[in-house]
Amino acid sequence: MADERRRYLAQQIELGGAEIILGRPQIPEPGEQVPAEGPAESMPAERPAADAPKWKKSAPPIPGPGLAVTSPEPVLLSNDLASLPTVDAVAERIRTTYCCELCPHRTNAVPGEGNPEARLVLVGEGPGATEDATGRPFVGQAGQLLESILDAIEVPRTSVYITNIVKCRPPQNRKPLPDEIAACIPYLHRQLELIHPKVILAMGGTAAESLLGVKKSLGDLRGKVHTYNGIPLVVTYHPAALLRNPNWKKPTWDDVRIARQLLDR
Ligand code: URA
Repeated sequence: MADERRRYLAQQIELGGAEIILGRPQIPEPGEQVPAEGPAESMPAERPAADAPKWKKSAPPIPGPGLAVTSPEPVLLSNDLASLPTVDAVAERIRTTYCCELCPHRTNAVPGEGNPEARLVLVGEGPGATEDATGRPFVGQAGQLLESILDAIEVPRTSVYITNIVKCRPPQNRKPLPDEIAACIPYLHRQLELIHPKVILAMGGTAAESLLGVKKSLGDLRGKVHTYNGIPLVVTYHPAALLRNPNWKKPTWDDVRIARQLLDR
């Protein structure tokens, strides 16, 4: 990583201290609406070794199990997504298909990007303005914060796969509507089936509820290790929410360190 980038990241986050320090965005980003935090069920913590990485020091214990869900068959309208053999093929289908009312208004679809064999998949809500302009997920302010968080848990952005519940930008960054989510989420199910990561991190209420197929507050869904098709799924706040609500930085730091520990299991 370039020195300049390292200096930038060092300004954003005090490693190991959970102090993610970023300015406030000028415009709202998707995924910032977040309910209150809830209690966590926990198992005994492992004592970190003396030479443990900084993120592991005072990391919370891995919590107990939450919901166990299985995805529906990846069928979208009349398209057979199950026949798409690669993550790239799914991305190409997303870029060349209109599946809901959001699609005709996009500049670019944002299928997701990263390692097709990622051990960690991060799921947000939907593209914002910068993502729509570039066709890449999490490249605006929320994306910069997300990179700082990944850097702090020593997971390079290039090693993960980052995507969203809906692949086209909702107008004015509003939350995606239920029928938009229903039309688009089969792509995500197929992406997850192909990547088959070790851990999924659902960022924000829309990602958590859509992946788990429930209507619950983020507080209810955080602090547990859910499973999606048997894959551990951790719920945390959306990075855009942290830009506006610094009180959520510490619980987010705990959540991502839980996800990080699950990667090492
Ligand atoms: N917020 C999201 O949920 N996804 C993005 O790609 C960018 C911002």
